Amino acid sequence: MEFTYAAAPESRSVVDIAPSYKLFINGDWVAGKGGTFPTINPATEEVLSKITQGSASDIDRAVKAARNAYTKIWSKLPAKERGKYLFRIARILQERAREFAVLETLNNGKPIRESRDVDIPLAAAHFFYHAGWADKLDYAGVGKSPKPYGVVGQIIPWNFPLLMLAWKIAPALATGNTVVLKPAETTPLTALLFAEVCQQADLPDGVVNIVTGDGRTGAALVNHPGIDKIAFTGSTEVGKIIARAIAGTEKKATLELGGKAANIIYDDAAIDQAVEGIINGIFFNQGHVCCAGSRLLVQESVYGTVLDKLQERMAKIRVGDPMDKNTDLGAINSAAQLAKIKELTSAGDSEGATRWSSPCELPEKGFWFAPTIFTGVTESHRIAREEIFGPVLSVLTFRTPAEAIEKANATPYGLSAGIWSEKSSKILWTAQNLRAGVIWSNTFNKFDPASPFGGYKESGWGREGGRHGLHGYLLTTQKSHSQKGGK
Ligand code: ADP
Repeated sequence: MEFTYAAAPESRSVVDIAPSYKLFINGDWVAGKGGTFPTINPATEEVLSKITQGSASDIDRAVKAARNAYTKIWSKLPAKERGKYLFRIARILQERAREFAVLETLNNGKPIRESRDVDIPLAAAHFFYHAGWADKLDYAGVGKSPKPYGVVGQIIPWNFPLLMLAWKIAPALATGNTVVLKPAETTPLTALLFAEVCQQADLPDGVVNIVTGDGRTGAALVNHPGIDKIAFTGSTEVGKIIARAIAGTEKKATLELGGKAANIIYDDAAIDQAVEGIINGIFFNQGHVCCAGSRLLVQESVYGTVLDKLQERMAKIRVGDPMDKNTDLGAINSAAQLAKIKELTSAGDSEGATRWSSPCELPEKGFWFAPTIFTGVTESHRIAREEIFGPVLSVLTFRTPAEAIEKANATPYGLSAGIWSEKSSKILWTAQNLRAGVIWSNTFNKFDPASPFGGYKESGWGREGGRHGLHGYLLTTQKSHSQKGGK
């Protein structure tokens, strides 16, 4: 007998969304010069608020405020005082966690269970972790008394809006930089609420500036001569535009770009556990995850078993109202993203792969896509090569470990991978041969502020998180090997 779930909606009364938002520059809310655009709830298409399109002159104002704050205040503050601000921000994020979780879900479409249990606690954890580093930078591994770059421009995507903000702002501030951050155009609300947190924490004016807008605002930030470094997370396509824009300048960059991760299931894996890992790997956050396990590689001898169990499990994924605490898969973030998913999945059909979607009912309003797998996928199919960034899994098979490695590495990306086996020696051998920055074994999509994250090849430059992530915000004072008299 199947029990049906009663609706368990989270209340939205905890959030107070203003009818419109200005830009947060120099500790104050200022009107922008580029007009406004609506921000919506992708699950209902309800307009939530009006957002300012930051212009090049707004960016200029923000960069000047950040420079002023850097020169006059932030760079003069003792490191442990900087740390105290970060601790304060972390505690406020915890205190206001429910408000942030509800707002994130309303603006992004992700299930409240995920924003409440993953996004917001991890965002607070990033501030706590980096608060601890602020006065210990001598031990970061870049030499004694390392110096910050100065003013950092940060551009983030819409898939984990507050968490990506934390990944960017926490290390930048801990290392003594000041920032101008541009949130993604479809998900600006939690970044704007974070501006309130900065005020609440009495952070000195201009240390954090938030300028909303679309790609044009991002481009103005990248091209501003007053920026010392760009930290970007988003598509490989825009990453390449940024790399070209800063080539030949003094600007530094870290780029977290796309991925097409292989999730490898060996025949000796604990199959039920692996199936849960496959589900988490591709359907967490609607598959809007750059490190998603979007290419499943199953050893041929267990293919039938894995596929049966996977389809049975997929049919149980609860798709619908993101504000319901029982929802597993929420809304696709935007009409544009839904169109992209539909375009790529149609290519899957026309190139000869076989589509199977979970038999779920999709709400009429909003942007939705049922959990889907494609079997009969070959390496040349677009769905095996291109990032779909949606709840769509491409299934391939292999016979030998060597074939698994070859197929897993046959991608221009190299962000993450998963390995499922009961043999540690096989896991270690596989991990050593995979060209991916983050490799999970017998688990998937686990994140921790102490663990560096980043990719090989077209998945980006640099690492975020952990001690390695600090290097992206510090000028090294350590002589490298070649400087000491190598070639
Ligand atoms: P996605 O595919 O995840 O939407 P994008 O790379 O398009 O990724 O967007 C990620 C972020 O980059 C967003 O904040 C977006 O506004 C910004 N962006 C888009 N185009 C540019 C550009 N030419 N220069 C700088 N930032 C940009």
